[in-house]
Amino acid sequence: MPVAAPSPSRRRAAPSSVGAQAAPASPGERLGLRSDWDFALHLPLHYVDETRITPIVQLREGRIAVVQARVVQAEIMPARRRVLRVTVEDAEARLELRFFHFYPNWARQYAPGKELRIRGEPRRGLFGFEMVHPVCRVAAAGEALPRSLTPIYPAGAGISQAWLRKAVAAALRRLDAREWLPAQLLERLRLPPIAQALHLLHAPPPEMPLEALEQRSHPAWRRVKFDELLAQQLAQQMARSRRAEQRAWPMPERSGGLVQRLLQALPFALTADQAACVSEIALDLQREQPMHRLLQGDVGCGKTVVAALAAAQAIDNGFQCALMAPTDILAAQHLQRLAGWLQPLGVGVAWLSGAQRKREREAELARAASGEAALVIGTHAVIQDKVQFARLGLALVDEQHRFGVAQRLSLRAKGAGEQRQPHLLMMTATPIPRTLAMAVFGDLDISTIAHSPPGRQPVRTRVFSSDQRREAVKERVRDLVLQGRQVYWVCPLIEPSEPVEGGADGGEPGPAAARPAAGARGGQPELRAALDAHAELQALLGEQAGCVGLLHGRMPSAHKAQVMADFAAGRLRLLVATTVIEVGVDVPSASLMVIEHAERFGLSQLHQLRGRVGRGSQAAQCLLLFSEPLSQTARARLQAMHESSDGFVLAQKDLELRGPGELLGQRQSGLQGLRHADLREDEDLLELAREAAASLLREHPLAAREHLQRWLGAGMDWLAA
Ligand code: ADP
Ligand code: MG
Repeated sequence: MPVAAPSPSRRRAAPSSVGAQAAPASPGERLGLRSDWDFALHLPLHYVDETRITPIVQLREGRIAVVQARVVQAEIMPARRRVLRVTVEDAEARLELRFFHFYPNWARQYAPGKELRIRGEPRRGLFGFEMVHPVCRVAAAGEALPRSLTPIYPAGAGISQAWLRKAVAAALRRLDAREWLPAQLLERLRLPPIAQALHLLHAPPPEMPLEALEQRSHPAWRRVKFDELLAQQLAQQMARSRRAEQRAWPMPERSGGLVQRLLQALPFALTADQAACVSEIALDLQREQPMHRLLQGDVGCGKTVVAALAAAQAIDNGFQCALMAPTDILAAQHLQRLAGWLQPLGVGVAWLSGAQRKREREAELARAASGEAALVIGTHAVIQDKVQFARLGLALVDEQHRFGVAQRLSLRAKGAGEQRQPHLLMMTATPIPRTLAMAVFGDLDISTIAHSPPGRQPVRTRVFSSDQRREAVKERVRDLVLQGRQVYWVCPLIEPSEPVEGGADGGEPGPAAARPAAGARGGQPELRAALDAHAELQALLGEQAGCVGLLHGRMPSAHKAQVMADFAAGRLRLLVATTVIEVGVDVPSASLMVIEHAERFGLSQLHQLRGRVGRGSQAAQCLLLFSEPLSQTARARLQAMHESSDGFVLAQKDLELRGPGELLGQRQSGLQGLRHADLREDEDLLELAREAAASLLREHPLAAREHLQRWLGAGMDWLAA
C-alpha cells in the first residue's frame, strides 16, 4: 500500500535543552498509546480504498483514487511560490501532480521513468486531471495490492500513518483478545466477538460499505463502544459495593437541635426543592454507610444553605465538618456566610488558606486538631498533610468539578479512624444532563435543586458586536454606575485553548494536581487585559474613577477579599475582573454584567459568569460582546445564551455543541475513559451496559474483572470517588 513520502513537516524532535525532561516521548506516547490494547483501540477515523488501481481515464473529479503511472517529467517551477510539477502517464492518459511543499531531492526521486503509486483527489486542471499533494511513492516491481481497505488513523503532527499502521498491526498480532463476555449476552445484543470486531475495524474487506464504519454504527463499532461503557459501569458498580461495606458514624437528627435552631435563624424559608434535598441528606447522615452524594443545582439556586444544614446535623452529633472550595474568594465567602449563621449558635469555625501567615495558620490548625473548631473552611489548604481533625464526620466539597478525584479522596481520608469514613457531600453548579451523570457518576447519589428561590428576575441577555457597539456599551455602563448601580466587567480569556479555570485565576497555588501546568501560562496576558480595561474604564468615569475596582487571580488573597468586600458594600460600583469571579461570588445588588470577547468562553462558563447577576430583586442584564471572526459553534453558544437562562437546557446544548469531554472540565478524569462511546448517540448502549454490568458481576465475576482490567489497566483509580 502506498506510504506517505517523507514530508518536510516531519522534522526530528529538537534535542531538549538543558534541564528539560529526559528523552522525548515516542510517537505512541504522544498519542497516549502505551499498551497493545491502547494501540488496538486506536481506531481509524476513515478508510481509503487502495485495493484496486484506477486507470487515469476512469478518474472522477473529487473521488479519491489510487493510480499507478510512470513519470514523464519532473521539474521545479521557479514561480513566485516554487512548485514541484510531476507529469505521469499510464497506458492511456496523463496526470499532473503538484507539490507546493517539498524537498528539492524529490525531483530526483521522481525522475522520468520511475513507476509511482499515487493516491489523491483528482481535480480538473488546464490539461486534464491533476492532483495536488497526493500521497505517492515509488512502486516496487510486481508489488501486490492490499487486500483490505486502508485505515486512516487519528494522528498528531509529525506522526505518520505508515508508522501507526505498523504499530497497530504489530499490537494486534500480540494482543490477547480472548472473549470474556458470555456468548448468550453477545447473541442477545447482536454483537460480534471482540477479536473479530477489532480485526474488521482495522482492516475491513474491500466490499465493506464504508458508511456504517465511518459513522460508527456498524456492529463492530457498537461492540467496542459497548465494551467501553461496560468497563465503566462495572467499575462504578464495584466501587458502590465496596462502599457499602464501609462504615460511617450515624448522625441522627435531634428535635430542638442545631439544625432546627439554624432553620429558625435563617432570614428566608427553604424552597420546596431545598427542603427535599435537606431531607435526603439528613437521611443519609443517619445511616451507618458513608454518604456519597452530589448536590447539583443551577448557579444561585441556594446550595450553600443546604450544605450548612448538613454541617449543623454533623456538628450537633459531636462531629467536625470540613468545607473545601476551589478558590479563596469563594472559600472566604463561605466563611463569612456560614460563620454568620453558625457562630451565633455557638459553633467554632476555623479558616485555612494557602495565603495565610504562618502564625495565624498554626493557630487555626491547632483549633482543627483539638476539635475546638467544629467547622473548618478553606481552600486546598484543608487537605494538606499538616491538617488534622479531632473527629471529622462530614466532608463538603463545593464546585466539586474543580477538584481532582485524588483531592476529594484525601479530604475524606482526613477523617478515617476506627474503621469509619466521614460522609461526603459534593456540590456543583454545572448541571449535568442525566445521561452524562449516569455515565460519569453512576455510583453517586444525586440531589437536585431544580428551581431557584422565588422573586428572582431572569437576566436579560443581549449579544453585540464589539466593533459596532463597544463604545455604546461603555456609555451605558457609565450612566448606570453614575446612577449608583453595580456592574461587573469581565475581561477576555486570552488563550481559549487553555483549561478555562486555569491557574492564573484559580486563587492561591494549590497542590500540583489541582493546577494543570498549562494553566499557569495563561496568566500574564490575561492580567494585562484586565489592567488595560481597568485603566480604560477609570478614564471613562473621570472624577468617579475611585469606584472602579480590579480583581484578578494574581492579587494577594487579602487584597482580593478587600476588593470583594468593597464591592459587596457598594464602595466599589464597577468591578473589572478576570474569570476569578466565575465561581460562587454572591453580591446580590450587582445588576449588569459585560463580558468581553464572549466568543472565547464556553457555554457553561458564560452561564456561570452570568449567574453572578440577577441574584437580587433588581432586573438584571448581561451584555455579551463578541469579535469577528465568529465560528459557527461560538455563534450557537451566544445564541443559546440569549435564548435560555436555564442551566440544564444550556448544559444539554453544551453537550451537543462540544461533546461531553469539555462539559465537565478537563479534571473530570472519568471522561478521559470514554474514547469511543458518544453519549449523545449511544444512550441505548449505556443502558444495556448498565444491565449487563450488574448481571456479569453476579454471574461471571471473573469475566467482569478481566474485562475491567483490559480497559482500565492501571487507571482504575479514578472510579474510587
Ligand atoms: P449557589 O447554589 O450558587 O451556591 P447560594 O447558596 O450562594 O447559591 O445562594 C444564592 C443566594 O440565594 C444567596 O444570597 C442565598 O442567601 C440566597 N438564598 C438561598 N436560599 C434562599 C431561599 N430559600 N430564599 C431566598 N433566598 C435564598
Ligand atoms: Mg455556591
